[in-house]
Amino acid sequence: MSEANNHNKADVIVVGAGPAGVSASITVARGGKKVVLVERGSFAGAKNMYGGVIHSHAASEIFPNYQEAPIERFVEEHSYVLLSDDASTKITYKNPHHNDNAFVAIRAKWDKWCVEQAVKEGVYYAPDTLVKELIVKDGKVVGIVTDVEEYFADVVIIADGVNSLLAKQLGLRKKIKPKHVVLGVKEVIKLSPEIIEKRFGLKKDMASAMEIVGGPLKDVFAMGIVYTNKDSVALGIGVSLDDLKTKKIKPYELLDKLKEHPFVADLIEGGELLEYSAHLIPEGGYKKIPKLYTNGALVVGDAAMLVNNVHFEGTNFAMISGKFAGETALDAIERQDFSENQLCLYKKKLENSFILKDLRTYKDVVRILTGRTASFLGYYPEKINEFFGIFTCADGVAKKGKFQKFTKHFFTKRSLSELFKDAFAGIRIILGILK
Ligand SMILES: Cc1cc2nc3c(=O)[nH]c(=O)nc-3n(C[C@H](O)[C@H](O)[C@H](O)COP(=O)(O)OP(=O)(O)OC[C@H]3O[C@@H](n4cnc5c(N)ncnc54)[C@H](O)[C@@H]3O)c2cc1C
Repeated sequence: MSEANNHNKADVIVVGAGPAGVSASITVARGGKKVVLVERGSFAGAKNMYGGVIHSHAASEIFPNYQEAPIERFVEEHSYVLLSDDASTKITYKNPHHNDNAFVAIRAKWDKWCVEQAVKEGVYYAPDTLVKELIVKDGKVVGIVTDVEEYFADVVIIADGVNSLLAKQLGLRKKIKPKHVVLGVKEVIKLSPEIIEKRFGLKKDMASAMEIVGGPLKDVFAMGIVYTNKDSVALGIGVSLDDLKTKKIKPYELLDKLKEHPFVADLIEGGELLEYSAHLIPEGGYKKIPKLYTNGALVVGDAAMLVNNVHFEGTNFAMISGKFAGETALDAIERQDFSENQLCLYKKKLENSFILKDLRTYKDVVRILTGRTASFLGYYPEKINEFFGIFTCADGVAKKGKFQKFTKHFFTKRSLSELFKDAFAGIRIILGILK
């Protein structure tokens, strides 16, 4: 191991130029300290994919000029879609005063823009550089080994995403279990802006964000998404890795089935497939958050499993956790104390923020839902569609008999014990959230 000198020593090294890493590095640079941001991709965003929605509160906190970024469209309406085999019921929230709450952006462009801002503010950026391992000396992280050379720092911020080999090297994280991770697969389908706006009923340059359950996804713990870019549509599913493994289902076959459902098929008709990608999403929630700090190092974003799957929030958790880690590093530099006792300030910041508060609120939701997949993501979406099928149909047949038949089926197709279990699960979810 070569010793640190001025050339290869920074105050802080950040590994990974995703939303978490770039936010951490820009925070340190704004505090006037030397920070190096290391990214294995040829450019930031080259290796990254996600659904498509970024939450403005976090973007504006890190980048007050975020509206100058390559934003595809601002989200005008947010919908939840329940599918049966053929039908669909859509619930849409729309409020002109909330149009700047969130926006759709393409990571290859957004991440690149974010890094450009960081560099303007003094971050030393090292793309195309793989961090192979951390250097630990006398129980403290003191630097990184890259494929080029060794670099040293007082604090290393680990922002290397869901698989975080570096957090594993430190023993902060164990190998992720399939039940604590979701595989996201996504297609981007080209359509003209005019067709998108007409088909989705959108104002010019505005976006629709849809989350979909049921129908072809009913047999697994899975959800679909449809987000509108400027001149393309992002269509994807997030599906439990555990279900893929045990039920021997191929994710792209599931996505194909979703594309064939009349609701989705109508939205993407005539579109041209531009790209296909896949990425893991941490699903463990509050109970699976690893230890977030050790002597000389902090873990942020997906590497720290900070994702709220109930609300599809990951980028905002990544950005704000990165900011907290950057602030904690600045504080440690000020005090010249890089021990766990000092760096635990990062955890306190997370605890006092929406990040750990929200994850705690939803700590049991995914686990309870996973146990009742067939009900909540299959049976009830189907029944809701059946109900609206009756409710909206005028065919000269009296309604009473149809409702009686519907009610009879509702209680005979599902045993009383299953219905009780569902009700109990629903109550546990509500009580867990309100507690
Ligand atoms: C399918 C899918 C849909 C999603 N949809 C949404 C959504 O709509 N809205 C939302 O808010 N969130 C969404 N998320 C979650 C969101 O993408 C993540 O929570 C967020 O990207 C986490 O940011 P991060 O910086 O922690 O990690 P990442 O974005 O994964 O960035 C990690 C970076 O580290 C780099 N890296 C890794 N290892 C090394 C190494 N050894 N050396 C150097 N560099 C390294 C990688 O190349 C990468 O650039 C989605 C995720 C997926 C997979």
